[in-house]
Amino acid sequence: MEVQATFPRRVTSQVMVGDVPVGGDAPITVQSMTVTRTADHEATLQQIYDLAMAGADIVRCTCNDLDAAEGLARIVPRSPVPIVADIHHNHRMALAALEAGVQCLRLNPGNIRKPDHIRTVAAEARDRGVPIRIGVNGGSLHPDLYRKHGGMVTAEAMVESALTEIGYFAEVGFDQIKISVKASSVPLMVDAYRQLAEVTDYPLHLGVTEAGPPPAGMIKSSAGIGALLVEGIGDTIRYSLTADPVEEARAGRQLLEALGLRERRNVDLIACPSCGRAEIDVVAVAEAAMAAFADRKIPLQVAIMGCVVNGPGEARDADLGIAAGNKRGHLFIKGRNVAVVAEDEMVDALVEWAELIHEEGTEAALARVDTEKAAREAEKDRKRMLADQGDDVNHSTALIESIRLHGS
Ligand code: SF4
Repeated sequence: MEVQATFPRRVTSQVMVGDVPVGGDAPITVQSMTVTRTADHEATLQQIYDLAMAGADIVRCTCNDLDAAEGLARIVPRSPVPIVADIHHNHRMALAALEAGVQCLRLNPGNIRKPDHIRTVAAEARDRGVPIRIGVNGGSLHPDLYRKHGGMVTAEAMVESALTEIGYFAEVGFDQIKISVKASSVPLMVDAYRQLAEVTDYPLHLGVTEAGPPPAGMIKSSAGIGALLVEGIGDTIRYSLTADPVEEARAGRQLLEALGLRERRNVDLIACPSCGRAEIDVVAVAEAAMAAFADRKIPLQVAIMGCVVNGPGEARDADLGIAAGNKRGHLFIKGRNVAVVAEDEMVDALVEWAELIHEEGTEAALARVDTEKAAREAEKDRKRMLADQGDDVNHSTALIESIRLHGS
């Protein structure tokens, strides 16, 4: 499916994280991070595969000790996606991770502070052709910068931290850089990224750090990352959720798909909010459909509508949809009725038709059926519902009269 919308993108340099380009004209990538012990390479690899399946293009693993570095040596050759090693306080772990073959490092300038150590790691990364993410974090800002900026974490302080690190890298001729300036406050991180985008053309990794569990964590991440992406800022993203990291990868991918910045891979499920006309539990049917489509790579928009009176018209642009009426489900493709199924078979029918359209195309699916007969059945149920419910089932006319009364 074609990407539908793009936003003018900030011009950036490009780095290669293994075989995945980040920045420049490369697609915006999704990242996530394992929560297993890296030393447990089998469990970590299993999680990396799960993350890749859910939409992660790049995965980060902690490298907090030598056991973890040894785990990375086993993980990297078998990983389906490039691996970034997250380095905490010990620069020797960065050197060990490079030796293990990781395709990128993440250094936090607030944690590895000695310029000599930073230059040593950058020189080694330079020689190996491995990029580094400068991962500034509002919660672990370098103490000197914290003091300098009035004992506060500010956007200016985070940007200064990133620029200082770039300076150390430049001293050893290293420029394979991407940068993040994450904070748990959405306005602060948006401000910091905007300021950073003004002063550097390195690719930016977006995220709201410690966003928390869903749904609040999802909302904060979507607000911060989404706001920047529509401004053209951002080359790779990560949702930091207190949840199964598979949810992070899935959410990142869905955000990019929703913004038209990546091709759709999975079903885009839309559903009406339900109202007085609905004779089915729209929420329950939508949840059942989400579960049924979860692992199917079918890039179609599928609609679930509570009634056949308005549903097919309201969702006429969907690739496929179903609307309920008189204990039956009326399937439609691009607004054209194609079949009628029992109410309890609606989700199964959606999956079956979605697979058919995905494999054979819309025209071939339409050619298989008598659309006129299906339209007659839908019209029959529509008229029945209108006769039973009347044409103002949501009592809108009474509300409008009340508004006019109050307004006069
Ligand atoms: S009118 Fe029908 S399709 Fe529209 S919200 Fe109500 S139930 Fe859903």
